[in-house]
Amino acid sequence: MSIADTLVPVGGPTLPQERRLVTAIPGPRSQELLDRKASAVAAGVGHTVPIAAVAAGGGVVVDADGNSLIDLGSGIAVTTVGNAHPKVVAAVQEQVAQFTHTCFMISPYESYVAVAEALNRITPGDHAKKSALFNSGAEAVENAVKIARKYTKKQAVVAFDHGYHGRTSLTMALTAKAMPYKSGFGPFPSEIYRAPLSYPFRDGLSGAEAAKRAISLIEKQVGADNLAAVIIEPIQGEGGFIVPADGFLPALVEWCRANDVVFIADEVQSGFARTGSMFASEQFGIVPDLITTAKGIAGGLPLAAVTGRAEIMDASHTGGLGGTYGGNPVACAAALAAIDVFENDGVIERAREIGDILVSRLTALQAGDPRVGDVRGRGAMVAAEFVDPATGEPDAALTGAVARACIAAGVIVLTCGTYGNVIRFLPPLSMPDELLHEGLDVVASALAAH
Ligand SMILES: *Cc1c(COP(=O)(O)O)cnc(C)c1O
Repeated sequence: MSIADTLVPVGGPTLPQERRLVTAIPGPRSQELLDRKASAVAAGVGHTVPIAAVAAGGGVVVDADGNSLIDLGSGIAVTTVGNAHPKVVAAVQEQVAQFTHTCFMISPYESYVAVAEALNRITPGDHAKKSALFNSGAEAVENAVKIARKYTKKQAVVAFDHGYHGRTSLTMALTAKAMPYKSGFGPFPSEIYRAPLSYPFRDGLSGAEAAKRAISLIEKQVGADNLAAVIIEPIQGEGGFIVPADGFLPALVEWCRANDVVFIADEVQSGFARTGSMFASEQFGIVPDLITTAKGIAGGLPLAAVTGRAEIMDASHTGGLGGTYGGNPVACAAALAAIDVFENDGVIERAREIGDILVSRLTALQAGDPRVGDVRGRGAMVAAEFVDPATGEPDAALTGAVARACIAAGVIVLTCGTYGNVIRFLPPLSMPDELLHEGLDVVASALAAH
């Protein structure tokens, strides 16, 4: 039995692991739901794949018309262990029948503490750590900033070009891209500054050069005396799966240490086995002061965390951190089951295997098609950046057309990137090899046809 077999749901929905189209996408039942959505749900809440999802597991999402789509997105890097993973389902069912909520700030319970212990153990670094739990990635980022400000007694925060940190007021301000995330939603909170990233495909700088450029800007335009925190995604997610050049992140961490600045790694998208290590920070040899997590943490249930140096995490007065639902017991039960899978079921190795397939297939495509400008990523977090071969300019139109053609052919792919010219591949790690290859065949045909 391969690792993929152990990850395919056996106790949950035993879905045939196949791409199956029985109607056009969307089919009539899906269209019916999309019509209801259009009249009942706020227009600002968009969707990428025009289906009504009714089941998902292994490497597929099934819709109301009976179509079975290959899932190369994991609901944005969330169902890393696989959708409806049997261990997650069992843990949730058991917990939901015991109690659904007490509010951890009112009556604490064991699963929250166990999730904190697990996060303190599996995040990078062997220093004393503590954690606090929240509901979403944005909420974790907001709290990491609160904690860093309280600890340093300073206010400024530096985020990076192409960065994405969420859609709440503070995290929108930290996020780089105006459309669709920020446009018209200001004013934004103050004391947020933006530094240039290392983007090897576009800036041609070494990690040391890019770090020098960023640090010089920070020193001149913000000043370490005013700076509470630097927040960065070790590999950017929405920004285009940008992998910084070697040495960039370690130089930033070193500068933060020397200047009493809290280094926050936002691993909401890159965390939990996705990149072929438990956290992407490990791939760059860095130990963040604080790390924010969410997405893959609980097999699809909403949970998020800030984990970091105990002395920083303890800076807040009692009652300064929390929230009604933060660390909900059902979500914590799911997280404990998912973390068990991450640690014991070969998921990290599987991320590397999937990554090898993605990179070899995409670099083969690149060799025959100069419009594939760059293939990059780590583990099962891989992207292709599409360009005009003559100018190197981003080609968002091609990217959108290829993505739409894939979806119409029953393969869920997501785009990203500041210029909208990146297709990102984030398959659930329960994806069987054959299905992954079939999905990539569809991507190749879609590209060839455009
Ligand atoms: C998705 C994401 C967030 C926001 O998480 P939500 O759960 O959507 O609030 C923050 N940071 C990164 C890096 C993300 O990818």
